[in-house]
Amino acid sequence: MSDIIRRDPRAEWIIRNRLHPLHDQYANQEEGGEVRGPSGLLRKFPHKVGFIGPNGIKRIDRLKGNSSAPKGKRSSAAQEVQLPLHKVDSPEYYIMVVADLVGGRLTGHDKDILGLAHKLIAERGGNGAVVAVCFGEVKEEHFDTAGVDRLLHIDGEAFEGYSPEARVQALAQVEAQYPVKQWLFPDSIHGGCDLASRLAARLGERPATQAWQVNVEQTVSRGASASLDITRKTPKILMLLEECADAIDETRHEATPITLDGVSVTAPTIQDQGLMDVDPNAIPMAEAEFILSAGNGIHNWDQFHDAAKVLGATEGASRVAVDDGFMPRSRQVGATGTWVTARVYIAVGISGAIQHMQGIGQVDKVVAINTDAGCDMVKRAALSVIGDSEEILGELMKLTAEHKSTSVSDQAEEDSHAA
Ligand SMILES: Cc1cc2nc3c(=O)[nH]c(=O)nc-3n(C[C@H](O)[C@H](O)[C@H](O)COP(=O)(O)OP(=O)(O)OC[C@H]3O[C@@H](n4cnc5c(N)ncnc54)[C@H](O)[C@@H]3O)c2cc1C
Repeated sequence: MSDIIRRDPRAEWIIRNRLHPLHDQYANQEEGGEVRGPSGLLRKFPHKVGFIGPNGIKRIDRLKGNSSAPKGKRSSAAQEVQLPLHKVDSPEYYIMVVADLVGGRLTGHDKDILGLAHKLIAERGGNGAVVAVCFGEVKEEHFDTAGVDRLLHIDGEAFEGYSPEARVQALAQVEAQYPVKQWLFPDSIHGGCDLASRLAARLGERPATQAWQVNVEQTVSRGASASLDITRKTPKILMLLEECADAIDETRHEATPITLDGVSVTAPTIQDQGLMDVDPNAIPMAEAEFILSAGNGIHNWDQFHDAAKVLGATEGASRVAVDDGFMPRSRQVGATGTWVTARVYIAVGISGAIQHMQGIGQVDKVVAINTDAGCDMVKRAALSVIGDSEEILGELMKLTAEHKSTSVSDQAEEDSHAA
Protein backbone atom coordinates (compact mmCIF):
# COMPACT_ATOMS: atom_id res chain seq x y z
CA MET A 1 0.00 0.00 0.00
CA SER A 2 1.21 3.49 -0.81
CA ASP A 3 2.45 5.71 2.06
CA ILE A 4 1.18 8.83 0.34
CA ILE A 5 -1.33 10.67 2.49
CA ARG A 6 -4.46 11.23 0.43
CA ARG A 7 -6.19 14.38 1.53
CA ASP A 8 -9.87 15.08 1.13
CA PRO A 9 -10.14 18.89 1.00
CA ARG A 10 -13.94 18.77 1.14
CA ALA A 11 -13.96 16.66 4.29
CA GLU A 12 -11.34 18.91 5.86
CA TRP A 13 -13.42 21.97 4.99
CA ILE A 14 -16.58 20.40 6.52
CA ILE A 15 -14.64 19.49 9.68
CA ARG A 16 -13.39 23.07 10.00
CA ASN A 17 -16.84 24.51 9.35
CA ARG A 18 -18.86 23.89 12.53
CA LEU A 19 -22.03 25.20 10.88
CA HIS A 20 -21.96 22.71 8.01
CA PRO A 21 -24.89 20.22 8.27
CA LEU A 22 -22.46 17.27 7.90
CA HIS A 23 -19.96 18.69 10.40
CA ASP A 24 -20.80 16.32 13.28
CA GLN A 25 -20.78 13.25 11.07
CA TYR A 26 -17.32 14.04 9.62
CA ALA A 27 -15.86 15.30 12.88
CA ASN A 28 -16.86 12.12 14.69
CA GLN A 29 -15.00 9.99 12.16
CA GLU A 30 -11.73 11.61 13.21
CA GLU A 31 -10.07 9.50 15.88
CA GLY A 32 -9.17 11.43 19.05
CA GLY A 33 -10.27 14.75 17.55
CA GLU A 34 -7.18 14.96 15.30
CA VAL A 35 -7.34 16.19 11.71
CA ARG A 36 -4.76 16.84 8.99
CA GLY A 37 -4.78 20.55 8.27
CA PRO A 38 -4.30 22.24 4.86
CA SER A 39 -0.54 22.42 5.45
CA GLY A 40 -0.41 18.64 5.97
CA LEU A 41 0.20 19.01 9.73
CA LEU A 42 -1.93 17.10 12.22
CA ARG A 43 -4.16 19.50 14.07
CA LYS A 44 -6.14 18.88 17.25
CA PHE A 45 -9.82 19.66 16.96
CA PRO A 46 -10.58 21.35 20.30
CA HIS A 47 -14.36 21.14 19.99
CA LYS A 48 -14.14 17.34 19.83
CA VAL A 49 -12.49 17.17 23.24
CA GLY A 50 -14.86 16.17 26.01
CA PHE A 51 -18.44 15.01 26.01
CA ILE A 52 -21.81 16.27 27.15
CA GLY A 53 -22.62 15.02 30.64
CA PRO A 54 -26.06 13.87 31.81
CA ASN A 55 -26.90 17.36 33.09
CA GLY A 56 -26.12 18.92 29.69
CA ILE A 57 -22.80 20.42 30.77
CA LYS A 58 -19.72 19.76 28.67
CA ARG A 59 -17.12 17.74 30.53
CA ILE A 60 -13.48 17.22 29.61
CA ASP A 61 -12.08 13.85 30.57
CA ARG A 62 -8.53 14.64 31.58
CA LEU A 63 -7.93 10.99 32.49
CA LYS A 64 -8.25 10.17 28.76
CA GLY A 65 -10.93 7.54 29.16
CA ASN A 66 -9.43 5.98 32.26
CA SER A 67 -12.34 7.24 34.29
CA SER A 68 -14.72 4.99 32.38
CA ALA A 69 -14.26 2.13 34.87
CA PRO A 70 -17.54 0.60 36.02
CA LYS A 71 -19.20 2.34 38.94
CA GLY A 72 -17.88 1.27 42.30
CA LYS A 73 -14.59 0.10 40.80
CA ARG A 74 -11.35 2.05 40.78
CA SER A 75 -10.32 3.54 37.43
CA SER A 76 -8.13 1.37 35.25
CA ALA A 77 -5.22 3.79 35.87
CA ALA A 78 -5.52 3.08 39.60
CA GLN A 79 -5.95 -0.65 38.99
CA GLU A 80 -2.77 -0.77 36.95
CA VAL A 81 -0.71 0.40 39.93
CA GLN A 82 0.06 -3.01 41.38
CA LEU A 83 2.51 -2.91 44.26
CA PRO A 84 5.23 -5.61 44.16
CA LEU A 85 4.26 -8.74 46.10
CA HIS A 86 6.42 -9.58 49.14
CA LYS A 87 6.24 -13.38 49.49
CA VAL A 88 7.45 -15.47 52.39
CA ASP A 89 7.57 -19.22 51.75
CA SER A 90 7.80 -21.55 54.75
CA PRO A 91 8.75 -18.94 57.36
CA GLU A 92 11.40 -19.90 59.92
CA TYR A 93 10.00 -17.57 62.55
CA TYR A 94 7.14 -15.15 63.11
CA ILE A 95 6.67 -11.69 64.55
CA MET A 96 3.17 -11.49 65.99
CA VAL A 97 1.33 -8.18 65.82
CA VAL A 98 -1.79 -8.25 67.98
CA ALA A 99 -3.86 -5.55 66.33
CA ASP A 100 -6.31 -3.32 68.21
CA LEU A 101 -8.64 -3.47 65.21
CA VAL A 102 -10.95 -0.75 66.50
CA GLY A 103 -14.34 -1.19 64.83
CA GLY A 104 -12.98 -4.26 63.02
CA ARG A 105 -10.42 -2.24 61.02
CA LEU A 106 -6.69 -1.70 61.39
CA THR A 107 -5.93 1.61 63.07
CA GLY A 108 -3.06 3.88 62.05
CA HIS A 109 -1.32 2.66 65.21
CA ASP A 110 -1.69 -1.01 64.12
CA LYS A 111 -0.24 -0.13 60.71
CA ASP A 112 2.80 1.59 62.23
CA ILE A 113 3.46 -1.56 64.26
CA LEU A 114 3.15 -3.79 61.19
CA GLY A 115 5.75 -1.52 59.58
CA LEU A 116 8.02 -1.97 62.62
CA ALA A 117 7.61 -5.75 62.47
CA HIS A 118 8.98 -5.73 58.91
CA LYS A 119 11.83 -3.47 59.96
CA LEU A 120 12.78 -5.96 62.71
CA ILE A 121 12.66 -8.87 60.24
CA ALA A 122 14.90 -6.93 57.82
CA GLU A 123 17.45 -6.32 60.64
CA ARG A 124 17.25 -9.84 62.01
CA GLY A 125 17.53 -11.51 58.59
CA GLY A 126 16.32 -15.01 57.81
CA ASN A 127 12.94 -16.03 56.54
CA GLY A 128 10.58 -14.27 58.94
CA ALA A 129 6.92 -13.46 58.46
CA VAL A 130 4.66 -10.87 60.04
CA VAL A 131 1.42 -12.27 61.46
CA ALA A 132 -1.56 -10.07 62.31
CA VAL A 133 -3.45 -11.66 65.20
CA CYS A 134 -7.08 -10.52 65.23
CA PHE A 135 -9.92 -11.24 67.62
CA GLY A 136 -13.66 -10.87 67.10
CA GLU A 137 -15.31 -9.20 64.14
CA VAL A 138 -12.96 -8.25 61.30
CA LYS A 139 -14.05 -5.74 58.64
CA GLU A 140 -10.60 -4.84 57.35
CA GLU A 141 -10.14 -5.46 53.62
CA HIS A 142 -6.57 -4.26 53.14
CA PHE A 143 -4.40 -6.52 55.27
CA ASP A 144 -2.28 -7.17 52.17
CA THR A 145 -1.21 -3.55 51.65
CA ALA A 146 -0.76 -3.02 55.41
CA GLY A 147 2.10 -5.57 55.49
CA VAL A 148 0.39 -8.73 56.76
CA ASP A 149 2.16 -11.89 55.54
CA ARG A 150 -0.05 -14.25 57.57
CA LEU A 151 -3.42 -13.59 59.15
CA LEU A 152 -4.51 -15.38 62.30
CA HIS A 153 -8.15 -14.63 63.00
CA ILE A 154 -9.23 -16.08 66.33
CA ASP A 155 -12.99 -16.07 66.22
CA GLY A 156 -15.75 -17.35 68.47
CA GLU A 157 -18.14 -16.19 71.17
CA ALA A 158 -15.51 -16.56 73.90
CA PHE A 159 -13.34 -13.87 72.26
CA GLU A 160 -16.08 -11.27 71.68
CA GLY A 161 -16.15 -7.98 73.59
CA TYR A 162 -13.86 -7.55 76.59
CA SER A 163 -12.52 -11.07 77.05
CA PRO A 164 -8.88 -10.75 78.15
CA GLU A 165 -8.72 -14.14 79.83
CA ALA A 166 -9.81 -16.09 76.75
CA ARG A 167 -7.60 -13.97 74.53
CA VAL A 168 -4.51 -14.54 76.67
CA GLN A 169 -5.17 -18.27 76.66
CA ALA A 170 -5.34 -18.16 72.86
CA LEU A 171 -2.11 -16.14 72.64
CA ALA A 172 -0.35 -18.60 74.95
CA GLN A 173 -1.50 -21.34 72.60
CA VAL A 174 -0.06 -19.37 69.65
CA GLU A 175 3.26 -19.13 71.53
CA ALA A 176 3.23 -22.90 72.02
CA GLN A 177 2.30 -23.69 68.43
CA TYR A 178 4.39 -21.25 66.36
CA PRO A 179 8.05 -20.18 66.47
CA VAL A 180 7.37 -16.64 67.75
CA LYS A 181 10.39 -14.31 67.93
CA GLN A 182 8.51 -11.25 69.17
CA TRP A 183 5.10 -10.06 70.31
CA LEU A 184 4.17 -6.51 69.33
CA PHE A 185 1.13 -4.72 70.79
CA PRO A 186 -0.13 -1.16 70.46
CA ASP A 187 0.33 0.61 73.82
CA SER A 188 -3.24 1.81 73.70
CA ILE A 189 -6.43 2.00 75.66
CA HIS A 190 -8.16 -0.17 73.05
CA GLY A 191 -6.95 -3.38 74.64
CA GLY A 192 -3.36 -3.64 73.44
CA CYS A 193 -1.78 -2.52 76.69
CA ASP A 194 -4.05 -4.68 78.84
CA LEU A 195 -3.55 -7.82 76.77
CA ALA A 196 0.21 -7.36 76.46
CA SER A 197 0.58 -7.02 80.25
CA ARG A 198 -1.44 -10.17 80.82
CA LEU A 199 0.52 -12.15 78.22
CA ALA A 200 3.82 -10.95 79.69
CA ALA A 201 2.73 -12.14 83.14
CA ARG A 202 1.63 -15.47 81.69
CA LEU A 203 4.89 -16.04 79.79
CA GLY A 204 7.06 -14.65 82.59
CA GLU A 205 8.50 -11.92 80.33
CA ARG A 206 9.37 -8.34 81.25
CA PRO A 207 7.74 -6.21 78.53
CA ALA A 208 8.79 -2.78 77.28
CA THR A 209 6.02 -0.20 77.56
CA GLN A 210 5.69 3.12 75.69
CA ALA A 211 8.36 1.93 73.25
CA TRP A 212 9.01 4.30 70.38
CA GLN A 213 12.50 3.55 69.00
CA VAL A 214 13.09 -0.13 68.51
CA ASN A 215 15.71 -2.22 66.80
CA VAL A 216 16.71 -5.83 67.28
CA GLU A 217 19.29 -4.93 69.92
CA GLN A 218 17.79 -2.11 71.96
CA THR A 219 14.55 -0.33 72.72
CA VAL A 220 13.95 3.24 73.78
CA SER A 221 10.80 3.74 75.87
CA ARG A 222 9.25 6.88 77.21
CA GLY A 223 9.24 7.09 80.99
CA ALA A 224 8.20 9.38 83.81
CA SER A 225 5.21 10.88 81.97
CA ALA A 226 7.24 11.14 78.77
CA SER A 227 9.84 13.35 80.47
CA LEU A 228 12.72 10.91 79.94
CA ASP A 229 13.79 8.04 77.71
CA ILE A 230 14.69 4.61 79.05
CA THR A 231 17.00 2.45 76.96
CA ARG A 232 17.10 -1.29 77.45
CA LYS A 233 17.72 -4.55 75.59
CA THR A 234 14.83 -5.29 73.22
CA PRO A 235 12.52 -7.73 75.02
CA LYS A 236 10.23 -10.35 73.54
CA ILE A 237 7.04 -8.41 74.30
CA LEU A 238 6.75 -4.79 73.27
CA MET A 239 3.98 -2.26 73.80
CA LEU A 240 4.55 0.37 71.17
CA LEU A 241 3.64 4.00 70.76
CA GLU A 242 2.17 5.44 67.59
CA GLU A 243 4.68 6.39 64.90
CA CYS A 244 7.21 3.89 66.20
CA ALA A 245 7.88 3.12 62.52
CA ASP A 246 6.58 3.97 59.08
CA ALA A 247 3.57 2.03 57.89
CA ILE A 248 4.08 -0.20 54.85
CA ASP A 249 3.25 1.58 51.60
CA GLU A 250 5.44 0.17 48.87
CA THR A 251 4.73 -3.55 48.94
CA ARG A 252 1.80 -5.92 48.84
CA HIS A 253 1.74 -8.96 51.13
CA GLU A 254 0.08 -12.34 50.97
CA ALA A 255 -2.14 -12.07 54.08
CA THR A 256 -2.47 -15.86 53.95
CA PRO A 257 -4.83 -17.15 56.68
CA ILE A 258 -3.26 -19.46 59.27
CA THR A 259 -5.05 -21.36 62.01
CA LEU A 260 -4.71 -22.18 65.66
CA ASP A 261 -5.36 -25.72 66.85
CA GLY A 262 -7.36 -26.55 69.93
CA VAL A 263 -7.65 -23.45 72.07
CA SER A 264 -9.14 -24.52 75.37
CA VAL A 265 -10.82 -21.61 77.08
CA THR A 266 -11.63 -21.98 80.77
CA ALA A 267 -14.73 -20.31 82.22
CA PRO A 268 -14.01 -16.58 82.47
CA THR A 269 -14.14 -14.75 85.77
CA ILE A 270 -14.71 -11.43 83.97
CA GLN A 271 -18.08 -10.94 82.32
CA ASP A 272 -18.54 -8.27 79.67
CA GLN A 273 -21.82 -6.49 80.42
CA GLY A 274 -21.67 -4.49 77.18
CA LEU A 275 -21.06 -0.83 76.60
CA MET A 276 -22.39 1.85 78.93
CA ASP A 277 -23.95 5.06 77.69
CA VAL A 278 -21.58 7.93 78.41
CA ASP A 279 -21.90 11.63 77.75
CA PRO A 280 -19.92 12.04 74.49
CA ASN A 281 -18.75 15.45 75.67
CA ALA A 282 -17.15 13.83 78.72
CA ILE A 283 -14.79 11.91 76.40
CA PRO A 284 -11.48 13.75 75.95
CA MET A 285 -11.43 15.29 72.46
CA ALA A 286 -8.18 13.55 71.52
CA GLU A 287 -9.77 10.15 72.22
CA ALA A 288 -13.24 10.77 70.80
CA GLU A 289 -14.19 8.40 68.00
CA PHE A 290 -16.97 10.49 66.50
CA ILE A 291 -16.86 14.30 66.42
CA LEU A 292 -19.39 16.81 65.14
CA SER A 293 -17.44 20.02 64.68
CA ALA A 294 -18.82 23.51 64.18
CA GLY A 295 -17.37 26.45 62.28
CA ASN A 296 -18.33 29.89 61.12
CA GLY A 297 -21.00 28.34 58.89
CA ILE A 298 -23.21 27.46 61.89
CA HIS A 299 -25.95 30.00 62.44
CA ASN A 300 -28.27 28.02 64.71
CA TRP A 301 -26.20 26.96 67.71
CA ASP A 302 -29.09 25.37 69.65
CA GLN A 303 -29.70 23.10 66.67
CA PHE A 304 -25.99 22.20 66.48
CA HIS A 305 -25.97 21.08 70.15
CA ASP A 306 -29.21 19.12 69.61
CA ALA A 307 -27.71 17.44 66.54
CA ALA A 308 -24.59 16.39 68.48
CA LYS A 309 -26.85 14.92 71.18
CA VAL A 310 -29.06 13.02 68.71
CA LEU A 311 -26.04 11.65 66.83
CA GLY A 312 -24.18 10.80 70.05
CA ALA A 313 -21.16 12.79 68.84
CA THR A 314 -18.51 14.67 70.77
CA GLU A 315 -18.61 18.39 69.97
CA GLY A 316 -15.65 20.13 68.34
CA ALA A 317 -15.13 23.61 66.88
CA SER A 318 -12.98 25.75 64.64
CA ARG A 319 -11.06 28.64 66.13
CA VAL A 320 -13.50 31.18 64.70
CA ALA A 321 -16.41 29.49 66.51
CA VAL A 322 -14.37 29.59 69.72
CA ASP A 323 -13.13 33.16 69.28
CA ASP A 324 -16.71 34.30 68.66
CA GLY A 325 -17.69 32.82 72.01
CA PHE A 326 -20.00 30.07 70.74
CA MET A 327 -17.84 27.18 71.94
CA PRO A 328 -15.38 26.77 74.84
CA ARG A 329 -11.64 26.90 74.11
CA SER A 330 -11.30 23.25 75.17
CA ARG A 331 -13.37 22.27 72.10
CA GLN A 332 -11.06 23.89 69.56
CA VAL A 333 -9.62 21.51 66.99
CA GLY A 334 -6.43 22.42 65.18
CA ALA A 335 -2.85 23.56 65.44
CA THR A 336 -3.53 25.65 68.52
CA GLY A 337 -6.29 23.39 69.82
CA THR A 338 -6.56 19.61 70.13
CA TRP A 339 -5.21 17.20 67.53
CA VAL A 340 -7.97 14.63 67.16
CA THR A 341 -7.85 11.00 65.99
CA ALA A 342 -11.55 10.30 65.43
CA ARG A 343 -12.81 7.58 63.12
CA VAL A 344 -15.41 10.02 61.77
CA TYR A 345 -15.21 13.82 61.85
CA ILE A 346 -18.18 15.82 60.58
CA ALA A 347 -17.06 19.38 59.79
CA VAL A 348 -20.09 21.63 59.61
CA GLY A 349 -19.46 25.06 58.05
CA ILE A 350 -15.67 24.80 58.41
CA SER A 351 -13.64 26.06 55.46
CA GLY A 352 -10.56 23.89 56.10
CA ALA A 353 -7.84 26.43 56.92
CA ILE A 354 -4.40 24.84 57.23
CA GLN A 355 -4.35 25.37 61.02
CA HIS A 356 -7.60 23.42 61.34
CA MET A 357 -6.42 20.69 58.93
CA GLN A 358 -3.35 20.07 61.08
CA GLY A 359 -5.64 19.07 63.91
CA ILE A 360 -7.53 16.49 61.84
CA GLY A 361 -4.54 14.96 60.07
CA GLN A 362 -5.08 11.60 61.76
CA VAL A 363 -8.84 11.43 61.31
CA ASP A 364 -9.97 8.40 59.36
CA LYS A 365 -13.05 9.73 57.54
CA VAL A 366 -13.99 13.37 57.20
CA VAL A 367 -17.52 14.38 56.23
CA ALA A 368 -17.93 18.01 55.13
CA ILE A 369 -21.16 19.98 55.29
CA ASN A 370 -20.60 23.28 53.52
CA THR A 371 -22.20 25.68 51.05
CA ASP A 372 -18.90 26.04 49.18
CA ALA A 373 -18.18 22.99 47.01
CA GLY A 374 -14.67 24.24 46.34
CA CYS A 375 -13.47 24.75 49.90
CA ASP A 376 -10.49 22.84 51.26
CA MET A 377 -12.57 20.86 53.75
CA VAL A 378 -14.63 19.44 50.86
CA LYS A 379 -11.38 18.49 49.09
CA ARG A 380 -10.18 16.63 52.21
CA ALA A 381 -13.52 14.94 52.88
CA ALA A 382 -14.43 11.37 52.00
CA LEU A 383 -18.05 12.50 51.74
CA SER A 384 -19.37 16.03 51.22
CA VAL A 385 -22.85 17.46 51.49
CA ILE A 386 -23.16 20.80 49.74
CA GLY A 387 -25.87 22.93 51.28
CA ASP A 388 -26.95 25.05 54.20
CA SER A 389 -25.80 23.67 57.55
CA GLU A 390 -29.14 24.30 59.27
CA GLU A 391 -31.11 22.48 56.59
CA ILE A 392 -28.74 19.52 56.48
CA LEU A 393 -28.42 19.11 60.25
CA GLY A 394 -32.24 19.26 60.49
CA GLU A 395 -32.58 16.52 57.89
CA LEU A 396 -29.83 14.45 59.55
CA MET A 397 -31.60 14.63 62.92
CA LYS A 398 -34.87 13.59 61.31
CA LEU A 399 -33.26 10.58 59.59
CA THR A 400 -31.45 9.56 62.78
CA ALA A 401 -34.68 9.70 64.79
CA GLU A 402 -36.46 7.60 62.12
CA HIS A 403 -33.61 5.09 62.07
CA LYS A 404 -33.64 4.81 65.86
CA SER A 405 -37.41 4.28 66.00
CA THR A 406 -37.31 1.56 63.30
CA SER A 407 -34.46 -0.26 65.06
CA VAL A 408 -36.40 -0.12 68.36
CA SER A 409 -39.55 -1.53 66.74
CA ASP A 410 -37.49 -4.22 64.91
CA GLN A 411 -35.92 -5.21 68.23
CA ALA A 412 -39.35 -5.34 69.92
CA GLU A 413 -40.63 -7.56 67.09
CA GLU A 414 -37.59 -9.86 67.40
CA ASP A 415 -38.10 -10.08 71.18
CA SER A 416 -41.82 -10.95 70.78
CA HIS A 417 -40.92 -13.69 68.24
CA ALA A 418 -38.28 -15.05 70.61
CA ALA A 419 -40.83 -15.11 73.45
C1 LIG B 1 -1.56 31.20 64.49
C2 LIG B 1 -2.91 30.69 64.11
C3 LIG B 1 -3.38 29.55 64.70
C4 LIG B 1 -4.64 29.06 64.38
N1 LIG B 1 -5.09 27.91 64.94
C5 LIG B 1 -6.28 27.43 64.60
C6 LIG B 1 -6.78 26.21 65.16
O1 LIG B 1 -6.14 25.58 65.98
N2 LIG B 1 -7.98 25.76 64.76
C7 LIG B 1 -8.74 26.42 63.83
O2 LIG B 1 -9.83 25.93 63.50
N3 LIG B 1 -8.31 27.56 63.30
C8 LIG B 1 -7.12 28.08 63.66
N4 LIG B 1 -6.70 29.27 63.12
C9 LIG B 1 -7.65 30.03 62.31
C10 LIG B 1 -7.75 29.54 60.88
O3 LIG B 1 -6.76 30.17 60.11
C11 LIG B 1 -9.12 29.89 60.27
O4 LIG B 1 -9.33 31.26 60.39
C12 LIG B 1 -10.29 29.17 60.93
O5 LIG B 1 -10.02 27.80 61.01
C13 LIG B 1 -11.53 29.38 60.09
O6 LIG B 1 -12.62 28.85 60.75
P1 LIG B 1 -13.92 28.45 59.95
O7 LIG B 1 -13.57 27.48 58.90
O8 LIG B 1 -14.95 28.04 60.95
O9 LIG B 1 -14.41 29.84 59.35
P2 LIG B 1 -14.40 30.39 57.88
O10 LIG B 1 -13.06 30.35 57.29
O11 LIG B 1 -15.12 31.69 57.92
O12 LIG B 1 -15.27 29.34 57.06
C14 LIG B 1 -16.66 29.19 57.21
C15 LIG B 1 -17.11 28.11 56.27
O13 LIG B 1 -18.49 27.92 56.45
C16 LIG B 1 -19.12 27.82 55.18
N5 LIG B 1 -20.49 28.29 55.38
C17 LIG B 1 -20.94 29.57 55.54
N6 LIG B 1 -22.27 29.57 55.71
C18 LIG B 1 -22.69 28.29 55.70
C19 LIG B 1 -23.95 27.65 55.85
N7 LIG B 1 -25.05 28.33 56.06
N8 LIG B 1 -23.97 26.32 55.76
C20 LIG B 1 -22.85 25.58 55.56
N9 LIG B 1 -21.63 26.14 55.40
C21 LIG B 1 -21.55 27.48 55.47
C22 LIG B 1 -18.32 28.67 54.27
O14 LIG B 1 -18.48 28.24 52.93
C23 LIG B 1 -16.92 28.44 54.80
O15 LIG B 1 -16.33 27.33 54.14
C24 LIG B 1 -5.43 29.76 63.44
C25 LIG B 1 -4.95 30.92 62.84
C26 LIG B 1 -3.71 31.38 63.17
C27 LIG B 1 -3.21 32.61 62.51
